[in-house]
Amino acid sequence: MPQSQTRATGEIPLPFGAVAQLGERLVRNEEVRGSIPLGSTTRRRRQDGPTGRCGPLPQSNAVWRGRALSKLRRGGVTQGSAMGRIIDSEAHAWTRIPFNWRHKAVPGEKRSELNARNAANYKPSRPAPDGSFAPPEDTSDDLLAAMDFHGIDISVIYPGACMCPNEEIARVVARAPDRLIGFGKFGKHVPPWRTPAEAKAAADELEHGLRDLNIRGVAEVSLAHWEPEPAEAAIRALRPWFELCTTYRAPVVVHAHAGGGATGLDYCNPATFRPLAADFPDVILVLNHMGGARRDFFDAALALARDHDNVRFNTSQTTSDHLSEAVRAIGAERIFFGVDWYALERPETAERSQHKNQLATVHRAQMSDRERELVLGESLAALLRLA
Ligand SMILES: [Zn+2]
Repeated sequence: MPQSQTRATGEIPLPFGAVAQLGERLVRNEEVRGSIPLGSTTRRRRQDGPTGRCGPLPQSNAVWRGRALSKLRRGGVTQGSAMGRIIDSEAHAWTRIPFNWRHKAVPGEKRSELNARNAANYKPSRPAPDGSFAPPEDTSDDLLAAMDFHGIDISVIYPGACMCPNEEIARVVARAPDRLIGFGKFGKHVPPWRTPAEAKAAADELEHGLRDLNIRGVAEVSLAHWEPEPAEAAIRALRPWFELCTTYRAPVVVHAHAGGGATGLDYCNPATFRPLAADFPDVILVLNHMGGARRDFFDAALALARDHDNVRFNTSQTTSDHLSEAVRAIGAERIFFGVDWYALERPETAERSQHKNQLATVHRAQMSDRERELVLGESLAALLRLA
Protein backbone atom coordinates (compact mmCIF):
# COMPACT_ATOMS: atom_id res chain seq x y z
CA MET A 1 0.00 0.00 0.00
CA PRO A 2 1.41 3.41 -0.80
CA GLN A 3 2.54 4.97 2.43
CA SER A 4 0.96 8.25 1.45
CA GLN A 5 -2.41 6.61 1.90
CA THR A 6 -1.66 5.65 5.46
CA ARG A 7 -0.16 8.89 6.60
CA ALA A 8 -2.04 11.48 8.55
CA THR A 9 -2.64 14.56 6.47
CA GLY A 10 -3.84 17.05 9.03
CA GLU A 11 -2.06 20.25 9.89
CA ILE A 12 0.52 19.70 12.56
CA PRO A 13 2.22 22.56 14.42
CA LEU A 14 5.96 22.67 13.93
CA PRO A 15 8.71 24.42 15.83
CA PHE A 16 9.31 28.00 14.69
CA GLY A 17 5.61 28.43 14.06
CA ALA A 18 5.70 26.67 10.73
CA VAL A 19 2.81 24.45 9.73
CA ALA A 20 3.16 21.18 7.91
CA GLN A 21 0.62 19.47 5.77
CA LEU A 22 3.03 16.71 5.07
CA GLY A 23 1.91 13.98 7.34
CA GLU A 24 3.05 13.14 10.78
CA ARG A 25 6.38 11.55 10.09
CA LEU A 26 9.04 14.12 10.76
CA VAL A 27 7.02 16.13 13.20
CA ARG A 28 5.74 13.47 15.52
CA ASN A 29 6.42 14.82 18.95
CA GLU A 30 3.99 13.07 21.19
CA GLU A 31 5.11 10.49 23.68
CA VAL A 32 5.60 6.95 22.56
CA ARG A 33 5.34 3.84 24.63
CA GLY A 34 7.74 0.97 24.33
CA SER A 35 5.22 -1.75 23.67
CA ILE A 36 3.34 -2.40 20.48
CA PRO A 37 0.47 -4.84 20.92
CA LEU A 38 0.66 -8.02 18.92
CA GLY A 39 -1.14 -7.65 15.65
CA SER A 40 -0.71 -3.90 15.52
CA THR A 41 0.81 -2.90 12.24
CA THR A 42 0.13 0.77 12.31
CA ARG A 43 1.89 3.54 14.08
CA ARG A 44 0.62 4.21 17.56
CA ARG A 45 0.16 7.79 18.58
CA ARG A 46 -0.25 8.60 22.22
CA GLN A 47 -1.24 11.92 23.59
CA ASP A 48 -1.27 10.89 27.21
CA GLY A 49 0.17 8.60 29.78
CA PRO A 50 3.58 7.98 31.24
CA THR A 51 6.67 7.71 29.16
CA GLY A 52 7.84 4.47 27.66
CA ARG A 53 11.30 3.35 26.65
CA CYS A 54 12.01 6.40 24.59
CA GLY A 55 10.67 8.82 27.17
CA PRO A 56 9.19 12.20 26.38
CA LEU A 57 10.67 14.03 23.46
CA PRO A 58 12.66 17.02 24.66
CA GLN A 59 12.25 20.21 22.75
CA SER A 60 15.81 19.98 21.40
CA ASN A 61 15.00 16.89 19.40
CA ALA A 62 11.77 18.37 18.14
CA VAL A 63 13.84 21.29 16.91
CA TRP A 64 16.32 18.96 15.25
CA ARG A 65 13.56 17.21 13.38
CA GLY A 66 11.96 20.51 12.56
CA ARG A 67 15.21 21.61 10.97
CA ALA A 68 15.42 18.41 8.98
CA LEU A 69 11.92 18.94 7.72
CA SER A 70 12.56 22.58 6.88
CA LYS A 71 15.61 21.53 4.88
CA LEU A 72 13.60 18.99 2.96
CA ARG A 73 10.80 21.45 2.31
CA ARG A 74 13.15 24.12 1.00
CA GLY A 75 14.22 21.74 -1.75
CA GLY A 76 10.67 21.08 -2.75
CA VAL A 77 10.93 17.33 -2.35
CA THR A 78 7.93 17.30 -0.07
CA GLN A 79 5.62 19.09 -2.46
CA GLY A 80 2.56 17.06 -3.17
CA SER A 81 1.98 13.88 -1.22
CA ALA A 82 4.87 11.84 -2.54
CA MET A 83 7.50 12.59 0.07
CA GLY A 84 9.89 9.68 0.20
CA ARG A 85 9.70 7.02 2.80
CA ILE A 86 12.42 6.49 5.36
CA ILE A 87 13.55 2.90 5.18
CA ASP A 88 16.22 1.55 7.49
CA SER A 89 18.23 -1.12 5.71
CA GLU A 90 19.78 -2.50 8.90
CA ALA A 91 18.02 -3.23 12.16
CA HIS A 92 19.16 -6.15 14.27
CA ALA A 93 15.95 -7.13 16.00
CA TRP A 94 17.46 -9.92 18.07
CA THR A 95 20.03 -9.60 20.86
CA ARG A 96 20.04 -6.85 23.47
CA ILE A 97 23.46 -5.28 23.85
CA PRO A 98 25.02 -3.11 26.58
CA PHE A 99 24.36 0.61 26.27
CA ASN A 100 28.02 1.46 25.79
CA TRP A 101 28.30 -0.70 22.66
CA ARG A 102 26.46 2.17 20.98
CA HIS A 103 26.86 5.17 23.28
CA LYS A 104 30.16 5.61 25.04
CA ALA A 105 30.37 7.76 28.18
CA VAL A 106 33.97 8.67 27.26
CA PRO A 107 35.92 8.07 24.03
CA GLY A 108 37.66 4.71 23.96
CA GLU A 109 35.53 3.28 26.75
CA LYS A 110 35.80 -0.50 26.92
CA ARG A 111 32.69 -2.39 25.87
CA SER A 112 30.69 -3.93 28.70
CA GLU A 113 29.92 -7.63 28.46
CA LEU A 114 26.71 -9.08 27.09
CA ASN A 115 24.33 -10.31 29.72
CA ALA A 116 24.15 -14.07 30.23
CA ARG A 117 20.97 -14.57 28.22
CA ASN A 118 22.24 -12.84 25.11
CA ALA A 119 25.79 -14.14 25.44
CA ALA A 120 24.36 -17.66 25.26
CA ASN A 121 23.09 -16.97 21.75
CA TYR A 122 25.78 -14.59 20.47
CA LYS A 123 29.14 -15.29 18.87
CA PRO A 124 31.16 -17.33 19.80
CA SER A 125 28.24 -19.40 21.16
CA ARG A 126 27.24 -22.47 19.21
CA PRO A 127 24.54 -25.12 19.58
CA ALA A 128 24.88 -27.88 22.13
CA PRO A 129 25.88 -31.34 20.83
CA ASP A 130 22.21 -32.35 20.66
CA GLY A 131 21.50 -29.38 18.33
CA SER A 132 19.67 -27.30 20.90
CA PHE A 133 20.65 -23.68 21.41
CA ALA A 134 19.68 -20.67 23.48
CA PRO A 135 16.98 -18.78 21.58
CA PRO A 136 17.69 -15.21 20.50
CA GLU A 137 15.91 -12.39 22.32
CA ASP A 138 13.18 -10.86 20.15
CA THR A 139 13.52 -7.10 20.59
CA SER A 140 11.03 -6.02 17.92
CA ASP A 141 8.83 -4.20 20.45
CA ASP A 142 11.74 -1.87 21.15
CA LEU A 143 12.39 -1.50 17.44
CA LEU A 144 8.82 -0.63 16.48
CA ALA A 145 8.65 1.94 19.27
CA ALA A 146 11.91 3.52 18.12
CA MET A 147 10.72 3.51 14.50
CA ASP A 148 7.57 5.36 15.52
CA PHE A 149 9.56 7.81 17.58
CA HIS A 150 11.98 8.64 14.77
CA GLY A 151 9.61 8.43 11.83
CA ILE A 152 11.01 5.30 10.19
CA ASP A 153 8.46 3.78 7.84
CA ILE A 154 10.05 0.39 7.26
CA SER A 155 13.01 -1.49 8.72
CA VAL A 156 14.82 -4.41 7.17
CA ILE A 157 15.50 -6.72 10.09
CA TYR A 158 18.15 -9.39 10.37
CA PRO A 159 20.30 -11.04 13.01
CA GLY A 160 23.79 -9.94 13.89
CA ALA A 161 26.38 -12.38 15.16
CA CYS A 162 23.79 -14.63 16.74
CA MET A 163 21.88 -17.83 16.06
CA CYS A 164 18.47 -16.92 14.70
CA PRO A 165 16.47 -19.38 12.58
CA ASN A 166 14.74 -18.00 9.50
CA GLU A 167 11.45 -19.26 10.92
CA GLU A 168 11.97 -16.86 13.82
CA ILE A 169 12.67 -13.99 11.44
CA ALA A 170 9.46 -14.74 9.54
CA ARG A 171 7.53 -14.91 12.82
CA VAL A 172 8.66 -11.45 13.85
CA VAL A 173 8.00 -9.95 10.40
CA ALA A 174 4.46 -11.32 10.61
CA ARG A 175 3.85 -9.12 13.68
CA ALA A 176 4.09 -5.98 11.53
CA PRO A 177 4.29 -7.02 7.88
CA ASP A 178 3.90 -3.50 6.51
CA ARG A 179 6.71 -2.16 8.72
CA LEU A 180 9.26 -5.01 8.71
CA ILE A 181 11.09 -6.90 5.97
CA GLY A 182 13.14 -9.97 6.88
CA PHE A 183 16.58 -10.93 5.65
CA GLY A 184 18.12 -14.12 7.00
CA LYS A 185 21.10 -16.42 6.98
CA PHE A 186 22.29 -19.67 8.53
CA GLY A 187 20.23 -19.95 11.71
CA LYS A 188 22.00 -22.22 14.16
CA HIS A 189 24.35 -23.59 11.47
CA VAL A 190 27.20 -21.29 12.37
CA PRO A 191 30.32 -21.26 10.17
CA PRO A 192 32.98 -22.36 9.71
CA TRP A 193 31.31 -25.51 8.43
CA ARG A 194 33.62 -28.42 9.05
CA THR A 195 31.97 -31.00 6.78
CA PRO A 196 29.95 -30.92 3.52
CA ALA A 197 26.91 -31.97 5.58
CA GLU A 198 27.28 -28.94 7.84
CA ALA A 199 27.63 -26.64 4.82
CA LYS A 200 24.54 -28.21 3.26
CA ALA A 201 22.51 -27.77 6.45
CA ALA A 202 23.38 -24.06 6.46
CA ALA A 203 22.50 -23.68 2.77
CA ASP A 204 19.25 -25.59 3.32
CA GLU A 205 18.34 -23.22 6.16
CA LEU A 206 18.94 -20.26 3.87
CA GLU A 207 16.99 -21.76 0.98
CA HIS A 208 14.07 -22.56 3.29
CA GLY A 209 13.94 -18.87 4.16
CA LEU A 210 14.20 -17.61 0.59
CA ARG A 211 11.81 -20.18 -0.88
CA ASP A 212 9.21 -20.67 1.85
CA LEU A 213 9.29 -17.78 4.31
CA ASN A 214 9.43 -14.62 2.20
CA ILE A 215 12.93 -13.90 3.44
CA ARG A 216 13.97 -11.26 0.91
CA GLY A 217 17.76 -11.33 1.18
CA VAL A 218 20.80 -12.61 3.05
CA ALA A 219 22.14 -10.59 5.98
CA GLU A 220 24.34 -9.77 7.66
CA VAL A 221 27.24 -11.95 6.62
CA SER A 222 30.42 -11.23 8.54
CA LEU A 223 33.47 -13.11 7.35
CA ALA A 224 34.63 -13.01 10.96
CA HIS A 225 32.11 -15.81 11.53
CA TRP A 226 34.76 -17.98 9.90
CA GLU A 227 37.50 -17.22 12.40
CA PRO A 228 40.07 -18.71 12.74
CA GLU A 229 39.89 -19.72 9.06
CA PRO A 230 41.29 -17.14 6.62
CA ALA A 231 38.97 -14.77 4.80
CA GLU A 232 39.57 -16.57 1.49
CA ALA A 233 38.10 -19.75 2.98
CA ALA A 234 34.97 -17.79 3.89
CA ILE A 235 34.69 -16.40 0.37
CA ARG A 236 34.94 -19.94 -1.04
CA ALA A 237 32.32 -21.22 1.40
CA LEU A 238 29.93 -18.47 0.34
CA ARG A 239 29.91 -19.40 -3.36
CA PRO A 240 26.98 -21.84 -3.03
CA TRP A 241 25.08 -19.09 -1.20
CA PHE A 242 25.62 -16.71 -4.10
CA GLU A 243 24.37 -19.40 -6.47
CA LEU A 244 21.21 -19.67 -4.37
CA CYS A 245 20.86 -15.91 -4.37
CA THR A 246 21.20 -15.83 -8.15
CA THR A 247 18.31 -18.30 -8.33
CA TYR A 248 16.11 -16.42 -5.86
CA ARG A 249 17.22 -12.91 -6.93
CA ALA A 250 18.14 -12.16 -3.35
CA PRO A 251 20.64 -9.46 -2.37
CA VAL A 252 23.51 -10.33 -0.05
CA VAL A 253 24.45 -7.92 2.73
CA VAL A 254 27.97 -8.17 4.10
CA HIS A 255 29.78 -6.51 6.98
CA ALA A 256 32.50 -4.25 5.57
CA HIS A 257 33.80 -2.21 8.46
CA ALA A 258 36.53 -2.70 11.06
CA GLY A 259 34.46 -1.41 13.97
CA GLY A 260 33.28 -2.96 17.18
CA GLY A 261 36.56 -4.45 18.28
CA ALA A 262 37.08 -6.29 15.00
CA THR A 263 39.97 -8.71 14.78
CA GLY A 264 41.44 -9.64 11.44
CA LEU A 265 41.15 -6.76 8.99
CA ASP A 266 40.81 -9.03 5.96
CA TYR A 267 37.41 -10.15 7.21
CA CYS A 268 36.00 -6.66 6.93
CA ASN A 269 38.02 -5.12 4.09
CA PRO A 270 35.65 -4.40 1.18
CA ALA A 271 38.36 -5.60 -1.24
CA THR A 272 38.01 -9.13 0.15
CA PHE A 273 34.59 -9.43 -1.49
CA ARG A 274 35.88 -8.70 -5.01
CA PRO A 275 35.78 -12.34 -6.26
CA LEU A 276 32.11 -12.67 -5.29
CA ALA A 277 31.15 -9.32 -6.84
CA ALA A 278 32.95 -10.30 -10.04
CA ASP A 279 31.75 -13.89 -10.35
CA PHE A 280 28.09 -13.29 -9.43
CA PRO A 281 27.11 -10.15 -11.38
CA ASP A 282 23.39 -10.89 -10.98
CA VAL A 283 23.56 -10.83 -7.17
CA ILE A 284 23.30 -7.42 -5.54
CA LEU A 285 26.12 -7.17 -3.00
CA VAL A 286 25.52 -4.60 -0.26
CA LEU A 287 28.61 -3.42 1.60
CA ASN A 288 27.24 -2.45 4.98
CA HIS A 289 29.07 0.55 6.44
CA MET A 290 30.87 1.17 3.09
CA GLY A 291 34.17 0.48 4.84
CA GLY A 292 33.37 2.62 7.88
CA ALA A 293 35.50 5.57 8.91
CA ARG A 294 38.81 4.12 7.65
CA ARG A 295 39.92 5.95 4.50
CA ASP A 296 41.67 2.90 3.02
CA PHE A 297 38.58 0.71 3.49
CA PHE A 298 36.32 3.39 2.05
CA ASP A 299 38.63 3.67 -0.98
CA ALA A 300 38.43 -0.10 -1.38
CA ALA A 301 34.63 0.06 -1.25
CA LEU A 302 34.57 2.81 -3.89
CA ALA A 303 36.93 0.87 -6.13
CA LEU A 304 34.77 -2.23 -5.90
CA ALA A 305 31.60 -0.27 -6.64
CA ARG A 306 33.19 1.49 -9.62
CA ASP A 307 34.27 -1.84 -11.08
CA HIS A 308 31.05 -3.77 -10.44
CA ASP A 309 27.55 -2.42 -11.04
CA ASN A 310 26.04 -4.97 -8.64
CA VAL A 311 27.72 -3.39 -5.59
CA ARG A 312 25.68 -1.20 -3.24
CA PHE A 313 26.51 0.65 0.02
CA ASN A 314 24.71 1.15 3.28
CA THR A 315 25.31 4.25 5.38
CA SER A 316 25.50 2.94 8.93
CA GLN A 317 28.68 3.81 10.85
CA THR A 318 30.13 5.79 7.96
CA THR A 319 30.88 9.51 8.08
CA SER A 320 29.04 12.35 6.40
CA ASP A 321 32.17 13.14 4.38
CA HIS A 322 32.40 9.58 3.07
CA LEU A 323 28.71 9.55 2.30
CA SER A 324 28.94 12.85 0.39
CA GLU A 325 31.79 11.44 -1.66
CA ALA A 326 30.03 8.13 -2.24
CA VAL A 327 26.95 9.86 -3.60
CA ARG A 328 29.12 11.79 -6.08
CA ALA A 329 31.13 8.70 -7.03
CA ILE A 330 28.50 5.98 -7.47
CA GLY A 331 25.12 7.72 -7.20
CA ALA A 332 22.43 7.85 -4.55
CA GLU A 333 20.50 5.09 -6.32
CA ARG A 334 23.12 2.66 -5.05
CA ILE A 335 23.17 3.78 -1.41
CA PHE A 336 20.79 2.74 1.38
CA PHE A 337 20.24 4.44 4.73
CA GLY A 338 21.03 2.15 7.66
CA VAL A 339 20.98 2.46 11.42
CA ASP A 340 22.72 -0.76 12.49
CA TRP A 341 20.19 -0.74 15.30
CA TYR A 342 20.24 -2.99 18.34
CA ALA A 343 18.06 -2.90 21.41
CA LEU A 344 20.11 -1.70 24.36
CA GLU A 345 20.04 -2.75 27.98
CA ARG A 346 19.30 0.82 29.08
CA PRO A 347 16.64 2.88 27.31
CA GLU A 348 17.88 5.41 24.80
CA THR A 349 16.91 9.03 25.14
CA ALA A 350 16.02 11.48 22.42
CA GLU A 351 19.57 12.82 22.63
CA ARG A 352 21.40 9.50 22.75
CA SER A 353 19.78 7.53 20.00
CA GLN A 354 21.10 5.27 17.27
CA HIS A 355 18.39 6.39 14.86
CA LYS A 356 19.13 10.05 15.52
CA ASN A 357 22.88 9.58 15.05
CA GLN A 358 22.53 7.72 11.77
CA LEU A 359 19.86 10.03 10.37
CA ALA A 360 22.20 12.93 11.20
CA THR A 361 24.94 11.37 9.08
CA VAL A 362 22.63 11.48 6.07
CA HIS A 363 21.32 14.96 6.80
CA ARG A 364 24.82 16.41 7.26
CA ALA A 365 26.15 14.88 4.05
CA GLN A 366 26.22 17.00 0.91
CA MET A 367 23.75 15.89 -1.72
CA SER A 368 20.63 17.18 -3.41
CA ASP A 369 17.24 16.75 -1.81
CA ARG A 370 16.32 14.17 -4.43
CA GLU A 371 19.51 12.26 -3.68
CA ARG A 372 18.71 12.39 0.05
CA GLU A 373 15.26 11.04 -0.63
CA LEU A 374 16.81 8.16 -2.56
CA VAL A 375 19.35 7.38 0.15
CA LEU A 376 16.80 7.60 2.95
CA GLY A 377 14.51 5.04 1.40
CA GLU A 378 13.60 5.14 -2.24
CA SER A 379 16.77 3.43 -3.51
CA LEU A 380 16.06 0.43 -1.32
CA ALA A 381 12.34 0.54 -2.15
CA ALA A 382 13.29 0.21 -5.81
CA LEU A 383 15.63 -2.71 -5.15
CA LEU A 384 13.01 -4.58 -3.11
CA ARG A 385 10.25 -3.59 -5.55
CA LEU A 386 8.15 -2.11 -2.75
CA ALA A 387 4.86 -0.62 -3.86
ZN1 LIG B 1 27.84 -4.74 10.12
